[in-house]
Amino acid sequence: MCGVFGIQAPDRDVARLTYFGLHALQHRGQESAGIAVSDQGHLTALRDLGLVTQVFNEQSLSGLRGSVAIGHTRYSTTGSNAWANAQPLLHHGSARTVAIGHNGNLINAEELRQNATARLGSSSDSEVIAALIANDDGPLETALTETMRRLEGAATVVGISEGTLFGFRDAHGFRPLVLGRLGDDPVLASETCALDLVGATYEREIRPGELVLAGPEGLDSRQAIEPAENGALCIFEFFYLARPDTRLAGVEVHGARVRMGERLAEESPVEADLVLPIPDSGTPAAIGFSRASGIPFSEGLIKNRYVHRTFIQPEQSMREQGVRTKFNPLAEVGGKRLVVVDDSIVRGSTTRQIVQMLFDAGAAEVHVRVSSPPVVSPCYYGIDLAKEDEMIAAHNTIDGVREAIGATSLAYLSLEGLQAATRRPASALCRACLTRSYPTRVPAGTEKLRFEPATRS
Ligand code: SF4
Repeated sequence: MCGVFGIQAPDRDVARLTYFGLHALQHRGQESAGIAVSDQGHLTALRDLGLVTQVFNEQSLSGLRGSVAIGHTRYSTTGSNAWANAQPLLHHGSARTVAIGHNGNLINAEELRQNATARLGSSSDSEVIAALIANDDGPLETALTETMRRLEGAATVVGISEGTLFGFRDAHGFRPLVLGRLGDDPVLASETCALDLVGATYEREIRPGELVLAGPEGLDSRQAIEPAENGALCIFEFFYLARPDTRLAGVEVHGARVRMGERLAEESPVEADLVLPIPDSGTPAAIGFSRASGIPFSEGLIKNRYVHRTFIQPEQSMREQGVRTKFNPLAEVGGKRLVVVDDSIVRGSTTRQIVQMLFDAGAAEVHVRVSSPPVVSPCYYGIDLAKEDEMIAAHNTIDGVREAIGATSLAYLSLEGLQAATRRPASALCRACLTRSYPTRVPAGTEKLRFEPATRS
C-alpha cells in the first residue's frame, strides 16, 4: 500500500510539485515519504519516516533541484529497519545509478535475490528491482524491459536513471498508475487525484506490461512485456484503498462506492431509524444505503482526523480506550435503531469496539452492513491485510462473525453486487482475498495453494 508520483519538467520546481503530488497520495501510506531528483544526471534522494509534511519543509525542498523527480509514500510495519524501507531507494550498480519508488509486492523476490546474491545486499523486494535495473549492462530501456520480464507479482514502479523518468506496471496491472500532463510535461501518479492537485490533466492509464520513458527528447512508450491474459487491478482499490475522487479504470471511485451501498440496501434491507458510516471509507456506501432504503443518513460517529500512525506509544489507560481515540458517537444515536455501514471487515476488532461504543451510547439496535464480501484470504500483492487465521470471516459463518462483533444483524455485499458496482468485468480485476482464487502462483508456505497456478472463478 504505497503511493508513487513522478514528473519530468525541466522548467519547473519538480521537487515542490512532487511534494504536493504526494500530499494527494498520503492516504496510500503514512509511515514514510521521500523524493528523489535528478539534476543533469546526478541523483539526490531525501526520505524519512513520517507524513509528507513531517519529512519535508521549505528548506529541505529548496535543496532538491533538478529536472526530473519521483516521490513515494509508504505504509510498512514499524521496526528498527523501517527507515531503510523508506523510498525512493537509490541503488548504485555496475551499469548505472537508479532511484525507484515501488508499489506492490513481488512473489518471486526471494528467488531473484538468490539468483543474484553477489549483487544484492538487501532483503527488500523493491531493492531487488532497483538492483536488477542498475546492474544490467544493456541500454536503460533494455535493462527496464529485462527487469520487467523477471518480476512476478505486483510492481507499479516509477524511477529515474540517466536523467530519464520511467514508469511501468506489471503484466497483471495489480496497482494503478496514470499518465497526465502539466502543460506538455509528463506526470505519473498512482491516482488521478494527485494529477488534479498539481493542476495536471489526465491523459490515460498506463497499461499492464507497459513501460513509459520521459527524457529530454520527449515521452516514449511501449508494451515492454505481454500483458497477462486477464488483468488483475485490485478490487480493494475500489472499495477501500483509492481516494473517492480518483477515477480508476475510468470509473469514479465515489460513485462506485455509492452504488455498492445502494446494492447492499437492496440485497440486505433492514428496518432502522438512521444510517451511519464508519468514516471515512464507509461514507459513500452509507450514502448509497440511505438513498436506496430511504432511511435518513447521519454522521453518527465523529472521527478525529488528526490521529495518524504515531511512533509515540499511548499511555496504557489511553490504549484501553481503543477506538475512542479515533471515533466518538453523537448523542443522537441514543434510543435509535442504527444501520452502521463499513467498507470491509478484516480482523473484526475495530468493528466490535464500535458496535460496543454505539450500544454504550444508548443505541437500541446496531445492524452492521459491509459494502464488500467477507475477506477470507491473504494478499500477496502489497496489501497487508492479515494472516488467514487472524481474519474473522476466514473460518466462520456470517452468524459467527455477527456474534463475535456483537451486532444485532450483519450482512455483506455479494461478490456479484460489488463487481457490478465497479462497472468492470471480473476478468479485469483481482478478487483473490475474497475468493481464494489467485491470478498468479502464490509464495511457498501457504499450504494448499503453494505454487499452484490459480483458476479464476
Ligand atoms: S488479493 Fe485482494 S487486496 Fe490483494 S491485490 Fe487481490 S484484491 Fe487486492
